[in-house]
Amino acid sequence: MAEKKFSGAGDDVCPYCGKKMRRWVGSLESAWGFVPQFVCFNDECAYYIEGWEWMRSQFKQNVSYRYRFNPDNGESGPLPVWSGDALKDGIVD
Ligand SMILES: [Zn+2]
Repeated sequence: MAEKKFSGAGDDVCPYCGKKMRRWVGSLESAWGFVPQFVCFNDECAYYIEGWEWMRSQFKQNVSYRYRFNPDNGESGPLPVWSGDALKDGIVD
């Protein structure tokens, strides 16, 4: 069982670009649930930039993803986005 980790100040820093992430909440009907998570909305983030290239080359899809971290359960992963402004209305900080 994964141990909950609370590393404090570093939890909201993106490990891919070193920028502070935004507090983000998915819509009620989305699979992400109504739990605030940290999402890197930096358009210069390598994770996000490489996501476009990867999805185009591998799946011929014009989408990417942003780095997401759930401080509640310590889980992190990709948050799929279809444009540079996608999901920004979920930013709550
Ligand atoms: Zn980032």
